Amino acid sequence: MGDEKKREGAGMSRRTFALGVGGAGVLLAMGGLKLVPAEAQVRPPGGQDENRLVASCIRCERCVEACPRGALRPAHIEDGIVSVRTPTTNFNDGWCDFCADENDGVPLCVAACPTEALALPADATAETTIIGKAVLIREWCLAWDKNNGCRFCYDACPYEAIELDENGRPVVVPDNCNGCGACQSVCVSQKEGSYTTGATSRAIIVVPESEA
Ligand code: SF4
Ligand code: SF4
Ligand code: SF4
Repeated sequence: MGDEKKREGAGMSRRTFALGVGGAGVLLAMGGLKLVPAEAQVRPPGGQDENRLVASCIRCERCVEACPRGALRPAHIEDGIVSVRTPTTNFNDGWCDFCADENDGVPLCVAACPTEALALPADATAETTIIGKAVLIREWCLAWDKNNGCRFCYDACPYEAIELDENGRPVVVPDNCNGCGACQSVCVSQKEGSYTTGATSRAIIVVPESEA
């Protein structure tokens, strides 16, 4: 990660912290914080119990710093006030390989967590840990909307969770998908030079399993 990106991240952390404290203060003054439900996020491995994560996480950001692939970020106030500074995924920039390349498949984010807000069974693997599910938005997909044969997501998926239909267009196979984010990280629909129209996110995104 370059110096500029590090500075950007540090600035964002301070900003989200300030917003979080300020926003929480307003809600506390209104007696409303406990009434605000946690908004579902795509969490790192071991953070899929949303209520447990939000309750146990001390917002230290060690997991975010530990991720060697830039796949995590601290949640912002836009992600829901009770989640501010808890870890959420950042699959536009990186994807989660369960630290297979960097730590023999033992997630560094889980190991870094001091409170077990992120916790996995000893026998957990990338295949058995469902972070989320990929969803394809056809009107923003170049292969579907522009019929241009794009198949970056298909080529990137490590788990055979994307198939091509008879016209070469990608289709997600939810049962094979663990939400790793590789497809989202390579999707070109919003990248510079893309001729997608009207997209507000990548054409393939990972969402919480409960929302797939
Ligand atoms: S398992 Fe590894 S690659 Fe995946 S989010 Fe955690 S630290 Fe990042
Ligand atoms: S390391 Fe654990 S306690 Fe610290 S921010 Fe991440 S989930 Fe929260
Ligand atoms: S479809 Fe996307 S999120 Fe699902 S396993 Fe394949 S690359 Fe990962």
